[in-house]
Amino acid sequence: MIEAMDATSEPDTGHAVVTARRSGRRWVLESDDYPDLYCELPSLANARAIVMEAIAYIVGHPAPEATVSIRPVQPLSATVSKAGRHWEVWIPGIGARQSIRRRVDAEFEARRCIAEHLNTAASRVDVDMHYSGSASTACPTPGKAAYSSRLEAKIALASTQRSRASRREESRAYRCPCGRWHLTSHPKAGTKTG
Ligand SMILES: [Zn+2]
Repeated sequence: MIEAMDATSEPDTGHAVVTARRSGRRWVLESDDYPDLYCELPSLANARAIVMEAIAYIVGHPAPEATVSIRPVQPLSATVSKAGRHWEVWIPGIGARQSIRRRVDAEFEARRCIAEHLNTAASRVDVDMHYSGSASTACPTPGKAAYSSRLEAKIALASTQRSRASRREESRAYRCPCGRWHLTSHPKAGTKTG
């Protein structure tokens, strides 16, 4: 049993844990609980229904829906984009779309949604988050002071250049992939100057 070491595994009684792993553009579903089970699916949208049908065929009677958990071995991707006053989380792997109020809730919501869809624990779900729009990706230099506009960064730059106390000689502001502005002492880098 793959899950034998795991304290949080589901109760043993009739519970089938089905792992889903990527193979090219498809998902391959297998289970230690049902060695005869093998499904190849383009997405996990209807995976539980299909797996339950397959189990029913193997054991000769339908399995209760609640007893089948599907666990993706690789992360599913989720795309977050602005939709009017809300944010939309699109999870193509399970064909689900969720509307949320705050962008910061996107990852939690994606995880919750996938977990519910696959009847597995949210803590087991891995998500690759993709944010579209201005504030796109995680900041590669989270330790640096961040400014929300070029102007703010330029003002901060001017004040560090006036200050003799600053150890670093910041020479320019640049736009970070995180969507905000930072200062750097490097005269030129891969990023555009402000
Ligand atoms: Zn940044």
